[in-house]
Amino acid sequence: MRFTLDFDNSFAVRYHEGSSLFAGANTVCLANRRICVLDHLAIKLNSSRLNMVDPSRTMDVSSCRFNLSARQVVDKQNSALLLDLSNPDQKKFSICIMEAFFQENRDSYIKQVAAFQPSQDQAKGAGCESREEDTSIGARVRPLLPNEIEDGEVVGISVRPEAGYADVHELRRKINGQPTLNSSSFRLDKVYGPNQTSEDVYHGLVAPLVPWAWGGGISTLFAYGQTGSGKTYSVSELERLTAAELMNGNLEGNRDVYICAFELVGKEALDLLNDRRKIVVMEDAFGESQLVGAVEEKPSTAEELLSHIERSMSFRKTASTLKNDSSSRSHAVCRIRIANKDVIDAPDGLLFLVDLAGSEVDRDIKEHSRDRMMETRDINVSLSTLKDCIRGRAMWNMTDGVAANKRAMNVHVPFRSSVLTKVLKHVFDVKGDRYCKTAVLACIKPNAADAGPSKNTLRYAELLRVPVPKIKPASYNVNIPSTWSHHALTKWIERNSGSPIISSSLLVPTENGTQLCKLPKGEFVSRCLKTPNVSPEHARAFYDKLWRLHIDSRTARSAAPSEVSSTIASEDEASPKPTVPFQERLQPGMIVRIKRRLSTEFAQYAMILSPEGAFEKDSVNREEVMGKKRYVCAQIFGAVMADAYNLAMEAKKVIAVEDMEAEVSMEWDAPTRYWFMTI
Ligand code: ADP
Ligand code: MG
Repeated sequence: MRFTLDFDNSFAVRYHEGSSLFAGANTVCLANRRICVLDHLAIKLNSSRLNMVDPSRTMDVSSCRFNLSARQVVDKQNSALLLDLSNPDQKKFSICIMEAFFQENRDSYIKQVAAFQPSQDQAKGAGCESREEDTSIGARVRPLLPNEIEDGEVVGISVRPEAGYADVHELRRKINGQPTLNSSSFRLDKVYGPNQTSEDVYHGLVAPLVPWAWGGGISTLFAYGQTGSGKTYSVSELERLTAAELMNGNLEGNRDVYICAFELVGKEALDLLNDRRKIVVMEDAFGESQLVGAVEEKPSTAEELLSHIERSMSFRKTASTLKNDSSSRSHAVCRIRIANKDVIDAPDGLLFLVDLAGSEVDRDIKEHSRDRMMETRDINVSLSTLKDCIRGRAMWNMTDGVAANKRAMNVHVPFRSSVLTKVLKHVFDVKGDRYCKTAVLACIKPNAADAGPSKNTLRYAELLRVPVPKIKPASYNVNIPSTWSHHALTKWIERNSGSPIISSSLLVPTENGTQLCKLPKGEFVSRCLKTPNVSPEHARAFYDKLWRLHIDSRTARSAAPSEVSSTIASEDEASPKPTVPFQERLQPGMIVRIKRRLSTEFAQYAMILSPEGAFEKDSVNREEVMGKKRYVCAQIFGAVMADAYNLAMEAKKVIAVEDMEAEVSMEWDAPTRYWFMTI
């Protein structure tokens, strides 16, 4: 057996056998002692206190002996075995010994940390660079816990919330032997200190996610950090605040809210609302990730939603007190699905709140079982894949606005590489045309002894921030919505939104073209419906019109702007409204909407083929049948995609003029081979 003592960052001593015994919150802390390394690597301690995991077992360790090769701590005076690591039932613990140098300079360290002034380089505000706006990365440094204070632990991290910095301070020995402070600064979008509440975090980081999902978009919150850094604490508080916001009735419109919660352990998914039963993550025929067998609850009040959340969390809590703390080795996902009752075919909004597995590099794999090793590997892969996915997604969000941008084509989002990102496929799949808002909360322990892991967490968080490259914004093009300013967009809406004209101040109070294209369909339609006399059909057709223009502009990215512009520009000229009622203008090829009361018998739309009786040989008969004003029509059925239709020539019906409600215009879309509603 090989043991090593690793003097890490000059003050934390770790002991590891392949991987260390660090287990986060449960820290055995030794102060004021001398360490000596004996022949078989035992540690002898003088005049010190040993605080055990269980506070009632605090004891004087002057006569205590750490026999690391036997993995035991023995009280020599009483010959009692205090701690036996070879016993699997023994609670996990870690040894975090403050080095003598740190111990001697503890007071000076505390003073220096308190007096820390950032250098000019470290002082630049986070606001002075431009950032992709749909991904925001924050950090929260929790306070020292009462038992940590009791153990004499020291705060080693300070925050500068205004500038968005977290500073990690380490004590270094200068060449002349003097102690000096070595500070590393990390800049994020938002930084919260020990005195800030979960409400602060909610308002700064999570608040924009909730209305976005309510409007039909996809929002995700990830909590990342080592075990004991406050991930579960923060996520549960944020879930509570989210539940209250979703159900308090302040958000506009009628929605049904559904919740499911599950845990990902290794490659398995376990249902947290159903006794941790196994569920299966599958991709269906449409490429959507499905959770087969997951229980989805439909709460109708904030209390009900909260009780489901509490129930799922209680599973996490009981699990974490068990022998092998599984909550540090699993990802917990709470998925809230929001179905829009006003706009039936709008895709559901999704809000994911994810409490990730502990990010510690050296996980306890005492058991060395194959399964456990695989699990550790899976966690590492999933956390690193997650980083690539979040970065990839942010880059794609940014480049998307620029149709001709090559970078957009090169973005690779490897979401299939881990179960976690596969479950979150909606969030990362750039082929799906849904825009996402993402927030990441890096959770940090304030302890000086954890400076190493805290720096890793902050470095990971910094990597997730993708700065906007300095490129010239694409110049205005009538056919590329992403180049439209707010003003140009307003003009376009006035000319193209049909009759009645959809009010641009209600649809896009501040947005520009790119922002409008990113708006979830449900939200878009709801906003259109605020204009009096606009029907849902009209609103949806208008949404499709914008979307087709947007998609065309993206696929036609390499075409010269002048070529593209001539083809569709003619649509811009408003055609004069015919004044003759449609019933008197009926002709082959015209599409009409059938009255609702007949909708069980007929499809909702039909194309006029010919008047009934037009082919009657006998002229008297012909006159008579045609006089009934009935038409042979081909029915038009809804296709699998929303707002796409199939014309079924074989499904002919005879429909009377009085059963026709209105003329509608549809357009054949060659690439998809469907008919789409136009205005
Ligand atoms: P993790 O899920 O990252 O392992 P936990 O959320 O379980 O960490 O937090 C570890 C301990 O710290 C818990 O006892 C928790 O109550 C406490 N804690 C975490 N964050 C805070 C905070 N912001 N304020 C007070 N206590 C906190
Ligand atoms: Mg946890």
